Parts: sequence; C-alpha cells; structure tokens
Amino acid sequence: MHIVTRGIVLRETQYKESDKLLTVLAQGQGKATLKARGCRRKNSPLAAGSQLLVYSEMTWFSYQDRWTLQEASTLQEFRRVRQDLVRLALGSYFAEVCEAVAVEGEENQPLLSLLLNSLYAMDQLDKPLDLIQAAFDLRCMVLAGYAPLLDGCAVCGREPEEPRLNLEAGVLCCRDCQAGTGPGRIEALTGEMLAAARHIAWGDPKRLFSFRLPPDQLASFAALTAAYLSGRLEREPRTLSFYRSLARWTPRPPVAGA
Ligand SMILES: [Zn+2]
Repeated sequence: MHIVTRGIVLRETQYKESDKLLTVLAQGQGKATLKARGCRRKNSPLAAGSQLLVYSEMTWFSYQDRWTLQEASTLQEFRRVRQDLVRLALGSYFAEVCEAVAVEGEENQPLLSLLLNSLYAMDQLDKPLDLIQAAFDLRCMVLAGYAPLLDGCAVCGREPEEPRLNLEAGVLCCRDCQAGTGPGRIEALTGEMLAAARHIAWGDPKRLFSFRLPPDQLASFAALTAAYLSGRLEREPRTLSFYRSLARWTPRPPVAGA
C-alpha cells in the first residue's frame, strides 16, 4: 500500500551502511517510524527529506506493517534553524517533546502545526528564542491534555493579586492560598507573566507568538514553562539541558523589541 502525506522528521538514526530509521510526524498519520533506504548515499533522492526537522511531501510504502520512505520532496528546510547551533538545539528539543507527546498512528494536526509554526518563528520571525520556547512549551502541554488551571486561584477562586503557580498540581493560586494547593514546587508569577500564560493557553493559535515580556521576565517565564513541561513528562528532555548550556555560552545579537 502507498500513501502520500506531508511529514517532518523528529528523529533520525543511522541504520546499516547507508540507511536511516526515521521517526516522522505526518498529516493524517501522527507519529510513525519509517525506513529510508540508501538515503545516506551521495545523490540519493531521499537525502534531503531524511534529515532532522525537514518537512517534506512524502510517499510511504507499507509492507508487512512496516513503512518505507519511497519519495520525499522538500517543502520547508528551516535552513536558518538547521544552520545555527543554538536554534538547532532548540528545534531538537521541540522534536523530542513532540515525539514524547505524539501517539504512534494517531493523527495530531494541532501538534504538527505547533511544531511547524515554532520552527517557522525561529526561522523567519525576529522573536526572542525564550519567547518561542515558552509559547511552544505551554501550548504543547495544553494540546497534550496538561493545561494548567489559569482561570483564578484554585483555593479561593479570586483573581490572584500576587499570583503563584504550583507546578506539580498545575494550578494558579494567591500567595496566601498556596499552602492549600498541596505539595509541589511553587513559583511566583508577575501579572505580565500570567497574562502571557493565558495568551498562550487560551489564545488563537495563529497569534501564539504575539505577546511581549521584558527580557528579565521572559527568561524566568521560559524557565518556568520548561519546568512545567518537564514535570508533566516526568523527565527533563535530554535536548533541553543541551540547548540551555549552548544558549548560555553562545553570544547572540540582541533582538529588536525583545
Ligand atoms: Zn486565593
């Protein structure tokens, strides 16, 4: 059986002499593992489409319940992401999280769109990487069914004046009510951070990256969303610590409007 779909490579593993095993997130298919035969040979027509974070129109062939990649024609290479070490590390983190959250064979168009939009933002929009990362983290957790409760204080129901977030319980609370949310790491939020979290969780996905935070708050906010994501996945993604170590030591030009 043949199918034609559009998919992005979340993971590539070298296999045999010139093959790769690919983990792909694709339209209508969700997550799938495919074999790309001969894609590491020079001039292989599959070479471009078998690379991490490349989005292609693909033809898959199934034989005995295994998928093989037969054709791939590149739709989006995200060149700026793949040529910049820090961006590539952040993109790899997005890919690892998508692989963890997606279910084999279960269509997940919102997750695919989130990944493509986040890579596009890194590739084409001059947004701070912390902002893109925070938006990805929180939106991804909403899609995975781990939306934090952000309506009001989980204990007294009021709009918190000095908001706190219990990362384990995934609930908002006031400073004075925090003991009532049970055990778990509790982090303070500024009013702007709470507004940003609500924008990401509740807003139109098309405007996902349309919020601003002062740079010092943005860094704390990105650390907080990553901690929330790691808590929900019950592990810190391996690629996250790598991205963090790179981002800390690699100077980047300041971003206008950050
Ligand atoms: Zn309260």
